[in-house]
Amino acid sequence: MAGSTSAGPLIYKFGGSSVGDAARIRHVADLIAGAPRPPIVVVSAVGGATDALVEIDRIHQSGGDITVALDDFASAHRTVAHALLHEHAGSRTRVLARIETVAARLSDLGDTPLGPESGDAIRACGEELSAALLTAALDAIGTPVRWVDARRLVRTDACFGAAVPDEAALEDAARELLLPAVAGGSVVVTQGFVGATEDGRTTTLGRGGSDYSATLIGAAVDASEVHIWTDVEGVLSGDPRAVDAPRVLGRLGFEEAVELAYFGAKVLHPGAAKHAVSRGLEVRIRSTFAPDRPGTRILRDRWGPAEIAAVAFKPEVALIQVRSHPSAIPYGFLARVFDVLTRHRLPVDLVATSHTSTAFTLDVSAEISAAAAELRRFADVEVRTGLATVSVVGHGLLEEPGVDARVFQVVGRTPVHLVSQASNVSLSFVVEADDASPLVRRLHRALIEDPS
Ligand code: ADP
Ligand code: ASP
Ligand code: MG
Repeated sequence: MAGSTSAGPLIYKFGGSSVGDAARIRHVADLIAGAPRPPIVVVSAVGGATDALVEIDRIHQSGGDITVALDDFASAHRTVAHALLHEHAGSRTRVLARIETVAARLSDLGDTPLGPESGDAIRACGEELSAALLTAALDAIGTPVRWVDARRLVRTDACFGAAVPDEAALEDAARELLLPAVAGGSVVVTQGFVGATEDGRTTTLGRGGSDYSATLIGAAVDASEVHIWTDVEGVLSGDPRAVDAPRVLGRLGFEEAVELAYFGAKVLHPGAAKHAVSRGLEVRIRSTFAPDRPGTRILRDRWGPAEIAAVAFKPEVALIQVRSHPSAIPYGFLARVFDVLTRHRLPVDLVATSHTSTAFTLDVSAEISAAAAELRRFADVEVRTGLATVSVVGHGLLEEPGVDARVFQVVGRTPVHLVSQASNVSLSFVVEADDASPLVRRLHRALIEDPS
């Protein structure tokens, strides 16, 4: 079973900010070289590269000229390659050649169908280059290293932009491509975020998906630990851009981690958190820039007194209110509503229901209007956007009398559109987008910074 032996491979995942420039890539290479045993390294694109590729995709889809944006993307990578490998002419030449290959592919996508499929072919290029740079940096310091192309490793369905991995195929590929290399004492570097269909078309797992790649690969190789290296010291009690004095959480229960990820704490991708839970993986969140700090350990079982751990928020949320027609048959209403959402592949976050109506939140997306049109065939539907969810996450919340009262006292007169508390680990509100940040700051101050 995953995580059951301490001798299993170690997975290190580095986010975009950890590999943001030549000095950082060099630092990451040193960290990898100093690992207790050669890890399997999952790397994100150089910070900002995926955003640049999203923009290239947008221009490409609208029939515009991508020359300038593509030049910027390629030259940013050339700059990193020159600074990183100035004393290593051979590796430098190889990395520069790959940058040209990728740039040529981006400027001529051949017969790749325009739309989500060409989008993924474009978006995946950042990780291909960061993997090439990191592999060269390790080689330059004399660390045995091999690059394994994630497109040979992570087989997915053809749902471009949010592809679903085939875990059995990944286990087979890992046995063939990863385990022998690691057993031979080599570091393996592979791209996060990226996969391919059975017939070799490039896919991606969704923004922020490198964390998910790391836990997928971790489960496939029965990893002893998955370390997510990032630019903060661990999971914090609040988004550092929103709260005044966030604390590093030394440990966090699996369920809390999943709720935090879903409710907007960007530090861990929701798919990764959920996958780690289901596969019993040991996960640690650590800072690339303070590697001596303990970071956050995600624990399978969390015990001790009930405690509020963190406050999170998620912007760009839509609230859908659905009221059944008075003449409708009185059963099967919720099933019909959720059937429509399932067919449109729309995942629901928060739900509240009464006898004749239901309200739920979704991430804002283009698909919502098509789903709403279908719902209107049997119900009255109102779609509201410009909202955010604010969540208080902890453990034992339902068992601790008075927690809700304290939270509601802080919410005070802030207009709330929906309240949801479906489990012991979170209490969430839907509020106007503009109210979210001030409410998060007040909740954090009252419940975490100064709880007395
Ligand atoms: P990476 O590039 O390493 O994947 P991300 O930007 O995806 O990093 O995630 C780390 C960022 O998540 C942090 O820099 C921080 O701004 C943000 N963040 C939001 N909420 C939290 C939280 N509760 N704890 C830690 N970081 C958070
Ligand atoms: N590079 C991808 C993104 O920016 C994946 C990741 O960083 O996890 O979304
Ligand atoms: Mg991330």
